Amino acid sequence: MKQVKIKNTNELISVGKILCIGRNYIEHAAEMKSEIPQKPVLFLKPSTALIYNGDIIHIPKISHNLHHEVELVVVIAKEGKNISKKDAYEYVLGYAVGLDMTLRDVQDEAKKKGLPWTIAKGFDTSAPISDVILADQIDDPHQLELVCKVNGKIRQQDTTNKMIFKIDQLIEYISSIFTLERGDLIFTGTPAGVAQVVDGDILEAEISGIIKINNSVKSSY
Ligand code: MG
Repeated sequence: MKQVKIKNTNELISVGKILCIGRNYIEHAAEMKSEIPQKPVLFLKPSTALIYNGDIIHIPKISHNLHHEVELVVVIAKEGKNISKKDAYEYVLGYAVGLDMTLRDVQDEAKKKGLPWTIAKGFDTSAPISDVILADQIDDPHQLELVCKVNGKIRQQDTTNKMIFKIDQLIEYISSIFTLERGDLIFTGTPAGVAQVVDGDILEAEISGIIKINNSVKSSY
């Protein structure tokens, strides 16, 4: 069972579902040549995809085009179903920074054939995540700056206020379909600037001034 740690404590939270939102920033949807969604685009990663600060991201043999996507991650505090927008933040334990690592070539092929994104998004090591910052330590989760650097150079830098569907809307929508449970994670989508990483690259993902992770990339071939 994978777990996440609450920052500056020894408390571990077992991770359940990893729910991910696609195309939640207009400029990222545009760079993917995708339409702006009318409702959240949802997919899942298995909890086995999780890795932590300092761990290695492995590119599986089936891909030659691994992309980084830095994202704000919402950690769920308690069980809920059909949660209304106005109650949504009662269900948030805290926040983390994560990377939704994506096999872009595998995903492009899946999109073309109308097949699921499971392999492109859910492979082992596809979800590096930081420790969890408790919600009461974050003034406004929509006023955070996300940054992704590769080998020290900034590739993505944007603020969470550009999310198309905000956190309360996401929780309302997701919980109308899936029961949310303590330890579920929601990857809330990536801003523009996604690009390829290769063997030997060092990735840094951060919520500016709050928390940061470092992961190196290794190719399996
Ligand atoms: Mg993503």
